[in-house]
Amino acid sequence: MAENAAAPEVRPLVPHLTLGATRDQDYLSGSKCTKCKAVYVGPRMFCGRCSGAGPFEAIRLSDTGEVYVWSIIHQATPYVKAPYAVAIVDLPEGVAVNTNIEGIEPDPKNLKFGMKVKMFTEKVSEDREGNSYIAYKFRPV
Ligand SMILES: [Zn+2]
Repeated sequence: MAENAAAPEVRPLVPHLTLGATRDQDYLSGSKCTKCKAVYVGPRMFCGRCSGAGPFEAIRLSDTGEVYVWSIIHQATPYVKAPYAVAIVDLPEGVAVNTNIEGIEPDPKNLKFGMKVKMFTEKVSEDREGNSYIAYKFRPV
């Protein structure tokens, strides 16, 4: 342990997850181009639609969406339990996020294109300094 070590923190696993005071206040964050209203997941420096540099407004993305496409992963890194289900989920804002799908057995019969899913967050890891990492996942509504 290093001297003057900071107190352990709770951190988002990815930059487009904004943490609240409690896990039910966490949300996916996006950027909206103030010129053309294009929406992106996470922070953005350049707008692909209007070729402008914004400015961008930070927005809160919906916590519900629909499965666009899914797959079941059978081989994972050693500390990850497989099989598990993953998906690309379309959000009402016109953007999509990659996610794990939980709350079901990872079996093709439990997954459908267009199925409604809702986001939740949970601690998925901890580093050597004791900082916790929070990830977002989705589960069927
Ligand atoms: Zn734009």
